Amino acid sequence: MEFDYDLFVIGAGSGGVRASRISSGFGAKVAIAEEFRVGGTCVIRGCVPKKLLVYASHFSEDFEDAEAYGWTLPEKPTHSWETLIRNKDKEIDRLNGIYHNILDNNNVTLYQARATLLDAHTVKVGEETVTARYILVATGGAPVMPPIPGIEHAISSNEAFHLKEFPKRVIVVGGGYIAVEFAGIFNGLGAEVIQLYRSEQILRGFDDDIRKFLAAEIQKKGIDLRTYSNPAKIEKTDGGLKVTLEDGDILECDAIMYATGRKPNTDGMGLEKIGVELKKNGAVKVSPESQTTVENIYAVGDVTDRIALTPVAIHEGMAFAETVFANRPRAMDHENVPSAVFSQPQVGSVGLTEAEAREKYGEVDIYKSDFRPMKQTLTNGTERAFVKLIVDPKSDIVVGVHIVGSDAAEIIQSVGIALKCKATKAQFDATVGVHPSLAEEIVTMREKFKPA
Ligand code: NDP
Repeated sequence: MEFDYDLFVIGAGSGGVRASRISSGFGAKVAIAEEFRVGGTCVIRGCVPKKLLVYASHFSEDFEDAEAYGWTLPEKPTHSWETLIRNKDKEIDRLNGIYHNILDNNNVTLYQARATLLDAHTVKVGEETVTARYILVATGGAPVMPPIPGIEHAISSNEAFHLKEFPKRVIVVGGGYIAVEFAGIFNGLGAEVIQLYRSEQILRGFDDDIRKFLAAEIQKKGIDLRTYSNPAKIEKTDGGLKVTLEDGDILECDAIMYATGRKPNTDGMGLEKIGVELKKNGAVKVSPESQTTVENIYAVGDVTDRIALTPVAIHEGMAFAETVFANRPRAMDHENVPSAVFSQPQVGSVGLTEAEAREKYGEVDIYKSDFRPMKQTLTNGTERAFVKLIVDPKSDIVVGVHIVGSDAAEIIQSVGIALKCKATKAQFDATVGVHPSLAEEIVTMREKFKPA
């Protein structure tokens, strides 16, 4: 049978663009559909603009620290949200252009329209109908908010990137990556921030020591973190918003941002009608090779709800291209994926948490270090850093490394290589530290932690 394309990709985010570029390089005729902007969540309204806002927000602390290092600031620095957003938008436009060029340079045909599936080989894109031998679903996810009264007054991270005015009083709801990162951004830029988390401790899924440590750090920086706390109702008032909590407490704010998770984008795509099975939460069910329950349809990235991280989607996209168009079947390895939370201070994490390691190995050796970073020695800053290593005593292999501290994201990347190589604690110890640095703690801890 003749098809218009060898591959039709739905969604031009990180996973979709990488899969189309690599597949095209293997000789496939490729098209891609995107209903919003080429680049996807990460580039347009996720990781990239978020990191720029994190940089912006950290200056306030740097200005404060500067005095102890001999600097005199002529006057109290002020911040223009408008300038920040304008400059950020310029950069996102530039990156969007680069993504268009990537598609052009790799002969990938772009359809700027929503695509839906008519059958296993036929896609309706805008007003056109096209056929393809293979279809790759890479449609990502979107924020979800609970349907409480007045939720229409809340924003998600999507809108936070485009607020016309900087809100002076902000409530952030949620305790995951996005909530923690945005609470830090608003706080650093000078807002009064209340973060509400419905359960006992933020960052569920992370190592318990890290969760506790970070919660204490962000509170020291001025975020009013309230656990077991959740809004029941939001009302608009003359002065802003009135938020009634489930326990009856009433808070006022200028903006309330929900970061209560994301949902895979599969609604209305026609997937189930043609036999592509979905999980309960709408995510596409896939094999380790990213194949769906329909042989010629694959899916990568957040839409599959495996690990919702950009570099994971990119790896899955490359593994897909090699499997299908280079005859080198391979599954992406989802073990020991390093990740970072761009909170202030940052969290870097790779491998198992202590709880997971105990579950898997029974006994584990723990090494912990809680210390004052050198930069704080001259300032009045109270920030502390924390490093934790988890070791399987039978093999001596380091199975988890968790860090809270500045540059934790940069540090954990290299530690990720060591864990991929199954490095032992003895090999960590044989590595010479870089002095003075936060990272040297990773190779200098000798005393096993003994609970009191
Ligand atoms: P997460 O799933 O990480 O966190 C959602 C948070 O909202 C949790 O604290 C959850 O609580 C809470 N929550 C869920 N439903 C409700 C509700 N109905 N009412 C109140 N609270 C609720 O989602 P995010 O939106 O933060 O991020 C989505 C994904 O994006 C992340 O998992 C991550 O993979 C990715 N990401 C990665 C980043 C990075 O690498 N730095 C940055 C940003 C996003 P509970 O714990 O009780 O379930």
